[in-house]
Amino acid sequence: MSVAEEPLRRAVFLDRDGTLNVDPGYISDPKQIEVYLGVAAGLRRLSERGYLLVVITNQSGVSRGYYTHETVEALHQRIREILARRGAAIDAFYYCPHAPHEHCGCRKPGTELFERAARDHRIDLERSAVIGNMELDVEAGRRLGLLTAYVRSPGFYLEPDPGRGYGADIVAPNFLAACEAIVTRDPDGQRSTRSPRTPETKA
Ligand SMILES: [Zn+2]
Repeated sequence: MSVAEEPLRRAVFLDRDGTLNVDPGYISDPKQIEVYLGVAAGLRRLSERGYLLVVITNQSGVSRGYYTHETVEALHQRIREILARRGAAIDAFYYCPHAPHEHCGCRKPGTELFERAARDHRIDLERSAVIGNMELDVEAGRRLGLLTAYVRSPGFYLEPDPGRGYGADIVAPNFLAACEAIVTRDPDGQRSTRSPRTPETKA
């Protein structure tokens, strides 16, 4: 089977700071990476069900001059190492380095990084999901028609939403619970693909 004929994959798009790891604000040193308990177990659950795991993160600290692209790569390498020790793995990392005033399309809730990942990895967005701890994660997922999961964990300058989790499809107390809910909502982990749609058809 040629690459073009391979079925589209499902993915779970993952926010980074405050979702996978503690968010102290503008992490600039790999030593600051503290992956939440339960994250590796949740990622393993998703992998077992055939989901690709793709991190999409806003890193405006690059544009603000707080840290460099190389730092971001080192942080992601650190996350990979921690997860590997716990038997889990991320398939790809994408980040937006821009500040809000630059009005790029890749800063969440912009959807460009999700669309780029979908092209790079032949992802079926219709059967994919997003997990995040901020409204912009839920909003990006909504724009793309993803299953949206909101995790009630604090972010930098941000307490968890006391209400309905910004209207997310799933509102979970922690990451592992969000993963369990995604798997429960879509128990058929290896469903055959539907016909491709955007961004596949747009590319
Ligand atoms: Zn951007």
